[in-house]
Amino acid sequence: MNAGQKMLESAQALIKKTAQNLKLDEEKIKRLIEPEYIHEFALEVQMDDGQKKVFKGWRVQHNSALGPYKGGIRFHPETVRDEVQALATLMTIKCAVAGLPYGGGKGGVAVDPKILSKSELERLSREYAKKIANFIGEDIDVPAPDVNTNPQIIAWMIDEYQKIKGIKSPATFTGKPVSIGGSLGRNEATGRGGLFVLQALLEKRDLVSCLPQSKETGAIDVKLLSSSFQNITIAVQGFGNVGYYFAKLAYEAGFKIVALSDSRGGIYNEKGLDPIKVMEFKKKTGTVQDYKNSKNITNEELLELKVDVLVPAALENVISQKNAKNIQAKIILELANGPLTDEAFEFLKEKVIIIPDVLANSGGVTVSYLEWVQGKQGYWWGEKEVNQKLKEMIVRAFEAIWEKSITKKMSLKQAAFEVAIERIVSAMV
Ligand code: GLU
Repeated sequence: MNAGQKMLESAQALIKKTAQNLKLDEEKIKRLIEPEYIHEFALEVQMDDGQKKVFKGWRVQHNSALGPYKGGIRFHPETVRDEVQALATLMTIKCAVAGLPYGGGKGGVAVDPKILSKSELERLSREYAKKIANFIGEDIDVPAPDVNTNPQIIAWMIDEYQKIKGIKSPATFTGKPVSIGGSLGRNEATGRGGLFVLQALLEKRDLVSCLPQSKETGAIDVKLLSSSFQNITIAVQGFGNVGYYFAKLAYEAGFKIVALSDSRGGIYNEKGLDPIKVMEFKKKTGTVQDYKNSKNITNEELLELKVDVLVPAALENVISQKNAKNIQAKIILELANGPLTDEAFEFLKEKVIIIPDVLANSGGVTVSYLEWVQGKQGYWWGEKEVNQKLKEMIVRAFEAIWEKSITKKMSLKQAAFEVAIERIVSAMV
């Protein structure tokens, strides 16, 4: 079974289990699981040497009970249909968790964008936009960036979409450059949202009681309950848009970032790292490795460090059966989509507080929603206003899940799925 299939099976199994707990009938469960549409296409792209290459692409529109399909587009060599379907399913849950008027969708292309030239990347992005143009729209399906895609790629797609459809709407895509109707704060939003959720969790006085074993094992240190975050140590895996901004903002809020990594490897310094300086270094050398006064470590070693908070912010399935027993963190903030396999989750859920991806990384889609609202009304807010609204929305989402997890004595992940499914089902006619 490939990783995509595994991810899909686990998302579907959790929906099924939650729906059964909620005593939903079989037909409703089917509607929660089966995607409404799966679009699959071959993208023919002219390479710089004149040859044509074909890449496989998908857009999965999973569920639209709560509103238009919403979700990013990823470019990755290992992307397969099942993975896109799994991620679209998780977007349905995520948008409901975040309290947004959206369903879930996701797009993907099986390609390694790092080996394409800029003009090849542009032609690929335009070709993808051509393929999806007839079934997206501001009230139908609103794509955005995801792994290896960014505002520039979205700008090419918008341009192509406008040429084909003749519609100039600033609400058809989100994650646009600010110059063409993007929102201030969108770039940092996933990292910033993750930080708001982490802070809201740390402020809970009853944090210890939600971890039954912690009383005996001391898994949660009382210092975590203090209102100052200064001594709390964090390791972040991934230094892309999500990991970098999370690390930078957490550092600025007073947390101690002891480890960082990118796809080539990581660095560790027990005295703490300044992510802004590490980014300057990475821009010059291409990697965080060999940064001054720090020890080079592998991505695997980073996950096993003795830290208070572990933040996987890169790809899925990085914590699995193989390394789950070596995890020493007290809190895991899932900023990537699906960084823990099912087996790892089952093994860790009694020992570690796991803030699930559908909540932890929902800051990105929440600010996408704020961008969409601004585009529709033709009036743009200042950055402070956007950040304030993000904070209110994501803390509200966290509180609902926290409440349920405490009252029903279930993990935050199970509670998030329950909250989401109740909301989706209430909108199904
Ligand atoms: N790709 C992001 C996610 O997985 C953002 C999606 C969006 O803004 O629509 O949540």
